[in-house]
Amino acid sequence: MKMEELKYDVFKDGPLVKSVSITKISPCMAEKGRIKLAMQLDSSLEEVMPIFAGKFPPGKVNYIKHKKILTLNTHNRVITFFPSGMINMMNTKDPEEGIEVITEFMEKINQSYLESESGEDREDLSEKLSKIGPLNIYNCLPQTNCEECGTATCMAFAMQLLSGDNTLDQCKPLFESENKDKIKCLKELLGEELMKTLGG
Ligand code: SF4
Repeated sequence: MKMEELKYDVFKDGPLVKSVSITKISPCMAEKGRIKLAMQLDSSLEEVMPIFAGKFPPGKVNYIKHKKILTLNTHNRVITFFPSGMINMMNTKDPEEGIEVITEFMEKINQSYLESESGEDREDLSEKLSKIGPLNIYNCLPQTNCEECGTATCMAFAMQLLSGDNTLDQCKPLFESENKDKIKCLKELLGEELMKTLGG
């Protein structure tokens, strides 16, 4: 198949990105039998990259601010987004599986664009999140070590939250009425946007 035929119209009415093309398929050096995809979005990510980068927990993301290059460790693979709209995706089964994965991120890119267009004075969320440590999160958790979330302690939960291996909604006691002050504490620490990023 010619490479120019590998264009996928994913979001016909997408406000920023509508389609993605696979420009190169090569063997993945990290995982035998898997492929590496080079892709190109139909739009630059230059403007939306800081907002897009703020949508992932710190343990999953490496964002080089001055180059606007975002690398995610997610879906059992490494995906790198460049400001030009180029994307590299490792450890992929086949082109269709790669497109399925990238669709999720294209949706987030379009959300980021709409947020950037809202005219609100937005903080640099990725930078804000990078300054928050597990102890800050722990101080806003119920601190009962009840294990309902599947981890042995609230501190372990806080660490997993920042590494992206857990989400806030997995702490059920947090959303009970007696812990309203804990939710308030988290909102003050994180703000609404980062609460969403961490699954709250
Ligand atoms: S469910 Fe919440 S309160 Fe219970 S151990 Fe996990 S983080 Fe702590």
